[in-house]
Amino acid sequence: MDERRAEPDHNTGVNNSVSLYGEFTLTGNRKVRCAVSLTERELVVQRLTSTPVGRNKAVLSLKDCVGCRAYREDDNADPAAYLSAYFYPLKRRWMSSGVSRQRVEQSFHLAALQDPRANLEEAEKWARAVRERSARQQYPRDGVLMSQLSRPCRMMLLVNPQSGKGGGADSLQQPHPTQCSTRRGVPHTLVITEHQNHARELVREADLSQWDALVIMSGDGLLFEVINGLLEREDWEDAIRTPLGILPGGSGNALAASIHHYSRSSPVSSEELLLSCGFLLCKGLVSRMDLVSVQLSSGPRLFSFLSLAWGFVADVDIESEKYRHVGAARFTVGTLVRLASLRVYRGRLAYLPAPDQETLRNEVTLHCNNQTLRSRDSVGQNTFHNSCHSNNSLKARRTESTPSRSPHKAPRGPPDSLLPPLDQQLPGDWVLVQEEDFVLMLAMYHSHLAEDLLAAPGAAPDDGVIHLFYVRAGISRAALLKLFLAMEKGEHLGTNCQHLVYVKVRALRLEPFSPKGIITMDGEVVEYGPLQAEVHRGLARLITG
Ligand code: ADP
Ligand code: MG
Repeated sequence: MDERRAEPDHNTGVNNSVSLYGEFTLTGNRKVRCAVSLTERELVVQRLTSTPVGRNKAVLSLKDCVGCRAYREDDNADPAAYLSAYFYPLKRRWMSSGVSRQRVEQSFHLAALQDPRANLEEAEKWARAVRERSARQQYPRDGVLMSQLSRPCRMMLLVNPQSGKGGGADSLQQPHPTQCSTRRGVPHTLVITEHQNHARELVREADLSQWDALVIMSGDGLLFEVINGLLEREDWEDAIRTPLGILPGGSGNALAASIHHYSRSSPVSSEELLLSCGFLLCKGLVSRMDLVSVQLSSGPRLFSFLSLAWGFVADVDIESEKYRHVGAARFTVGTLVRLASLRVYRGRLAYLPAPDQETLRNEVTLHCNNQTLRSRDSVGQNTFHNSCHSNNSLKARRTESTPSRSPHKAPRGPPDSLLPPLDQQLPGDWVLVQEEDFVLMLAMYHSHLAEDLLAAPGAAPDDGVIHLFYVRAGISRAALLKLFLAMEKGEHLGTNCQHLVYVKVRALRLEPFSPKGIITMDGEVVEYGPLQAEVHRGLARLITG
């Protein structure tokens, strides 16, 4: 090995000198000898023995490296040591346009010396150098506070065997994520859930000091359990700061798709999404994640990390359960079926706009002190009305239909500062949506509603905002279908659909009028009835890579 001359990088001015150089043979083919150089940003492997197959030179970016290890085989007669480095570079896809990650392993056989210990020390020196440099080569990300998982990172991996097509554990046969953690020497414990709420109970009781991260391999439903379990603990304030990771194993993999989207890679699905999320998980960068506390008419508060839905979207999510065998496509099938029997949902919606938000047209600002409503028309002029019936009827309805809330079940988690009790009037800075006939209400706090639905393109994990969408009644089937088709590319807001309203809010209150219906939170059915929600900025920690 030698120290090589510095080669300043003319593009960036950063010194990209070769800091380590060695000549090793390939583990897979000892006849192939390679010159291996490590710079600040790359591992360059040049084959010295020309081979009829395979490229002669590989330049691997350390940004794409998830780990490197040195080891010896158990065979005492062999003094050699081994060096393996694992990369997930972006590669152009064969059949379709775009790029996706592929796994590349570089393994070398180091046998320059007779002393096995000296060979191992040499391999360890390389492994350390590769790991240090790849840790310095993280992709910069704007605006999101990041930290790095400690290494080695002890993970609890929770798998729902019922998720997806019902073979959640099959995903474990995919070599990548678990192998990746095994090879990086990541101690992990695998828990296959036995029933619904198993994960929730487990994290509520677990000794969390044993884990640096909780990783969920399922759909969004299992993470919903884990988050609520963490917030039910007495030490919730610390517990909810446990970094949470997700590997897509369900049929609704909205968070996994969002994390992939935040990494600014082109859209992928299924196994490519799993590979991408495995890579991001191994990178171990942690950002803050907003959670939304939701008060339902009875029971303690629940915490939501992804979405709240009522109307069309909630119905599709739940009705499409019967098409689970088709995997993620179940939402497409469900959407078409529901479109055929499109209906109107009656109710009242109010929200507290996020600070930088201009209130949109067709809204009413409540002025409850003087019992007047001020409505704002499309050009922003105000007109005054002399009654506050909307808000009073909200209150009246509540007392009719709501069981009393138990004062003893003090919910844990941070207090809500923006929400009055559910049966009390809203403050004057809230906006009441004038319509009472909707096709859907969807509150999102991540970018994706499903693997292929980019519902809130501008959302970031810790923007402190609920991205609220609603579609007013009167929209045609064709227009609604067009919206969902445009949503595949996140272009629905550009369709100028008159029935679609989008506003960024900090809190909302929904009061459905019909006695029966479906409300979902992170894709899970929750108690149907009035609810209100408030965003808690950056409360949780998410491994975003
Ligand atoms: P999918 O995206 O396929 O729906 P989820 O992760 O959302 O997958 O899980 C679906 C539901 O299964 C959730 O309600 C979750 O709480 C529940 N669940 C978790 N573990 C189990 C289990 N072992 N058996 C049955 N249901 C489970
Ligand atoms: Mg689900």
